[in-house]
Amino acid sequence: MKRIILIWLLFLVWQFSLPSGTSVYAALAADQSDPIFKKPNFYKSLDSQYLNCWPASRMPIPVYVYPADGVRNFRPAFIQILKSACSEWTEASNGAITFRFVDKLPEYGIFVHFESKPGKQAEGVSQAFDDRLGLSRATVALYVKKTHDSAEDATMKAICLHEIGHALGIQGHSPVSGDIMAAIDHVNENESAEQVRLTERDKNTILCILAVGPKLLKDDQADSEVIELNNKATKEILKEDFESAIHTLERCLTRCPKYKIAMDNLRVAYWNWGIKYYNAKDWGRAAYLFRKDLECIEQMKKPDASEKNQVLSALNYCLQQGTTIDSANEAETKEETAQEDPR
Ligand SMILES: [Zn+2]
Repeated sequence: MKRIILIWLLFLVWQFSLPSGTSVYAALAADQSDPIFKKPNFYKSLDSQYLNCWPASRMPIPVYVYPADGVRNFRPAFIQILKSACSEWTEASNGAITFRFVDKLPEYGIFVHFESKPGKQAEGVSQAFDDRLGLSRATVALYVKKTHDSAEDATMKAICLHEIGHALGIQGHSPVSGDIMAAIDHVNENESAEQVRLTERDKNTILCILAVGPKLLKDDQADSEVIELNNKATKEILKEDFESAIHTLERCLTRCPKYKIAMDNLRVAYWNWGIKYYNAKDWGRAAYLFRKDLECIEQMKKPDASEKNQVLSALNYCLQQGTTIDSANEAETKEETAQEDPR
């Protein structure tokens, strides 16, 4: 069987604690009467709890790209690829979403870093932040890696489209492989950047989000300690300190077992840690972590069948490599031993 290189497309949910008590967005009863909801889309696969969009008052969205000249393997052509990805989203939104590339750090907008990640698969990370008007800030990290093949530009285009999609409020992934917003993407070796395009489903989904509009804040009973723990874990995940993140999220969930944001981030930690071992061909550890991810999915009220299948197929692939559940258990033992070590 041909092994597909997994592109790590991580999306984290970050919740701020607000100074006067705490607030979270109330799940909005989406107005799905708009005809766009009848066209192919994956709006229902997204998490309504986190869905939000940029308010019209913030258009064009300022995009600030941190200087990348010193970043290893960075090429100025990537900026053009990023701009073409933004233009595609403008087109997809029928001009409702527009962008303005700026030279000075703006107060709100999309902040893009190109970073060098030698020895890793091409990948990207996004975080979106909101305030009382809707989305206000998004950070996007685009990881540059020399792949020594013609797919480098096509891969960068796929990552730019995907991460900008998250930055625009698509919180979650498409269950259909082939959509730019699917959790795992792959490009063909001979594909050019121009050939990597949003699908109709990607386009219709952003139109659904825009049809619903930005969310309004409502007070909630959320506990500030729980939110702080979740935010701490988010930082740990970004530093790829998955072990600490899992520990922090478990503390968070002990305090508030129904805190869905932490449960989602726990999945992010298991899945991405698993992918790290998968790409390093450490099948035993990868299998163990994918299985932990599955356990999280099974604890969910409404588990997503496509996400479950995705984790299951990754787990099965690991097991086909001669790894047994036993050696996955061995990884568990190693993790536990490691946790006992003094830090
Ligand atoms: Zn993603």
